[in-house]
Amino acid sequence: MTHYFDYAATTPLDPRVFEAMTPYMTEHFGNPNSLHAIGRDAFRALETARESIAAAIGAQPEEIVFTSGGTEADNAALLSTLWRIAPEGGAHIITSAYEHPAVLEVVEWLGKQGHEGTFVAPCKDGFVHAEDVAAAMRPDTRLVSIIMANNEIGTVNDIAAIAALAREGGALMHTDAVQALGKIAVNVDELGVDMLSLSAHKIYGPRGIGALYLRRGTRFDPLIKGGGQESRKRSGTQNVAGAVGFAQALELVEAERSKESPRLAALRDRIVEQVTTRLENTRATVCEGVRLPNIAPLLIYGVEGEAMLLQLDNAGFSVSTGSACSSGSLAASHVLLAIGVPQEIAHGSLRISLGRWTTEKDCDALVDALVPVVERLRAMSPVYEKMFCATDE
Ligand SMILES: *Cc1c(COP(=O)(O)O)cnc(C)c1O
Repeated sequence: MTHYFDYAATTPLDPRVFEAMTPYMTEHFGNPNSLHAIGRDAFRALETARESIAAAIGAQPEEIVFTSGGTEADNAALLSTLWRIAPEGGAHIITSAYEHPAVLEVVEWLGKQGHEGTFVAPCKDGFVHAEDVAAAMRPDTRLVSIIMANNEIGTVNDIAAIAALAREGGALMHTDAVQALGKIAVNVDELGVDMLSLSAHKIYGPRGIGALYLRRGTRFDPLIKGGGQESRKRSGTQNVAGAVGFAQALELVEAERSKESPRLAALRDRIVEQVTTRLENTRATVCEGVRLPNIAPLLIYGVEGEAMLLQLDNAGFSVSTGSACSSGSLAASHVLLAIGVPQEIAHGSLRISLGRWTTEKDCDALVDALVPVVERLRAMSPVYEKMFCATDE
């Protein structure tokens, strides 16, 4: 049996979500834009899902635009607004150096299209500080996009403080809340954001559906043009079953959050505590301040994250070295480099992420499997002793 420790990459569909979705793939298969009864039936389901998702984040239903996922929501948030505000280029955009690639790459691309991006560095504890965003603000800053909770290290930023600054400076504020959703409170008015990205498959919902919260009145040119669905903000026949699943998944995570988040945080701390006491030259990547309950980011000095990942996989444990997007490339994680982890240490990164079906027994089994893996790899390493073990002489 495989022990799954990669919930930050994706989650299994909750059977209760699957059950809620299936009727909308079979008997209630209608196109929600059709005027007949079967279409109206699908329309009602779609709009009920929209109302439920809106209510969960303190938004109005008309402020929810369904997308194909978090990536599209991030792209739309940045591109659709800038096309409207600054069609000729010349806008200054502030983001951070440790965003998800769905934001980072878009801002880099915008930099080549006549706009200018500033990539604020997070501190060594993993937070983007409002003061640093304030220092980057300029009169021509039109857009600020800062991740709410980082997907590799789990640190949670003070988005409300950053959004207040953006607003004061006349810029729009976007946050990627994909990892935050379901683990901590996400409320668009408390955060004071204009746009916020969500995805269903990180909260036990289906892959391929997400949403962009777009504050009423925000000027927006659709990224995907066509039939004018989603109030002309995102064309294409809506994924009704996906939307129903997303809403059901969100209802469940919110109903269980007050019990589930402390449970996961205790397991997270247990893993970090056991690994760092049983293995020398290891540490939690970050350990201060507000963090997601379900991500245990670890640095294991002197071994390659990929080597640990593959050996743990052989032993039946699925973990990650960082973001799923950067696995497969041997470059050190941009997130770890951004928070000042030296290159040679950043290579020994493990991201252990927990979820609904993680038990204490699983966590202990993972640590029991990891310890000999690390010892074996270190024993084989020609440089480990020299680099990381101080001699007594
Ligand atoms: C997973 C993830 C995304 C991408 O969402 P998809 O639905 O997979 O496109 C974006 N941002 C963050 C922080 C994520 O963790």
